[in-house]
Amino acid sequence: MEITITRTTMPKQKPSMDGIPFGTYFSDHMFLMNYTEGIGWHDARIVPYGPLSLEPSTMVLHYAQEIFEGLKAYRTAEGKIQLFRPNENIRRMNRSAEKLCIPPVPEDIYLQALKTLVETDRDWVPSEPDTSLYIRPFIFATDAHLGVHVAKTYLFCIICSPVGCYYPEGLNPVKIAIESREVRAVRGGTGYTKCGGNYAASLHASDAAERRGFSQVLWLDGVEQKYIEEVGSMNVMFKIAGKVVTPSVEKLTVLPGVTRKSVIDVLKRMNYEVEERDISVDELIAAAEDGTLEEAWGTGTAAVISPIGEISYKDRQYTVNNFEIGELTQKLYDTITGIQWGKTEDPFGWVVPVC
Ligand SMILES: *Cc1c(COP(=O)(O)O)cnc(C)c1O
Repeated sequence: MEITITRTTMPKQKPSMDGIPFGTYFSDHMFLMNYTEGIGWHDARIVPYGPLSLEPSTMVLHYAQEIFEGLKAYRTAEGKIQLFRPNENIRRMNRSAEKLCIPPVPEDIYLQALKTLVETDRDWVPSEPDTSLYIRPFIFATDAHLGVHVAKTYLFCIICSPVGCYYPEGLNPVKIAIESREVRAVRGGTGYTKCGGNYAASLHASDAAERRGFSQVLWLDGVEQKYIEEVGSMNVMFKIAGKVVTPSVEKLTVLPGVTRKSVIDVLKRMNYEVEERDISVDELIAAAEDGTLEEAWGTGTAAVISPIGEISYKDRQYTVNNFEIGELTQKLYDTITGIQWGKTEDPFGWVVPVC
C-alpha cells in the first residue's frame, strides 16, 4: 500500500528534554488511514499533526469502540533509530481489534506505517539519556450515528510524543495500593485488550489512590478479589525467596505486556526460575511479613521497569527492600534498556531498525 506524505510547512519548535512531562508534546506529523465497510482500509497518509474534525454523533464518543497501543522509537549512540518488538504491538492490537469488533490492520501495512512516520519525524527522536519517541497508534469508530451496534467506518491514527522518564521521580521506587473494592477486569471481559474503556473504568479507584499518595493501584481479580492481577498500566512481578513470580495472562483478565514477556525471556536467559501463576494477596502479604518478598517491580513500555518500594493493603503499609531499587530490578532495567537503546547486544533479535 502506498502511503502519501504531506509535510508540514510550519515545523514546531522542539521542547527541551530536561524533565519533559510524559505525553505532552507531539511531533510534526501523524499517520491516518480510513476503513469503510465494503472497501477495507484505504487512504494511508502522513499529514501534519493537528485536530481531527468529528460530528458530535461520532460513535466512539458514545459507545467507546476504541483500541490503542504504545511503543517507542529509540536513538542509538550512532544516531540510528530503532523500534523494540513492534510486531508484538501489532499482533496485540489485532487481538484487541477482534474483541472490540474492529477490523484488523494488515501487519505489513501497520509496520510500514510505523516506520514511515518515525522516519518522517526522525528529528523528533531525542538523543538525551533515557529519552525516546513514544508512539501511540489507535483506532476508533467514526460512524456519525447513534444506536449500539458495530460501526461500519473507522479511523486508524498514529501520533508520536518525545518522552523522558514516565515517573517524575525517575527510577525511584513507587508506592502502590492494593485495591480491595473496585476491579479492573472480569472473566470474559476486555481485560486482555488495550481499550480506552478499561482505563475509563479504572479512573475512580486510581484517582482515589493518587489522592492518598500512591502512584498506582494494584488490581485484584474480579471474581474473588483474592489474586494479584496487575498495576494500573503495568504488569507486576515479585521476587520471593529467590524466585520470580508473576500473574499468568492465561485467564485473559491481565494485559499481556510486551515488556513483561521480554523480562521473562531475559530472566530465563539469566537462569532465574520464573513462575507464571496465581499469586494470592495473602501469599504476597505473608512474604512481605516474613521477609521473603525481596523485590517488586512493574513492567511496561512507558516506564520500562518501575521498582515498587511500598505496598499498602487494608490500611497497612509494607515496605519492600527498604524502599530502595533492588539488585535484580536494576539489572533488568539495564538489560532491557541496553537492548532498546542499542547499548548492549540484542541476543533475542528484538530490535527493528528504522533509519
Ligand atoms: C500497556 C499495558 C501494560 C504494559 O504493556 P507493555 O506492552 O509492556 O507496554 C500493562 N497493563 C496494562 C493495563 C496496559 O494497558
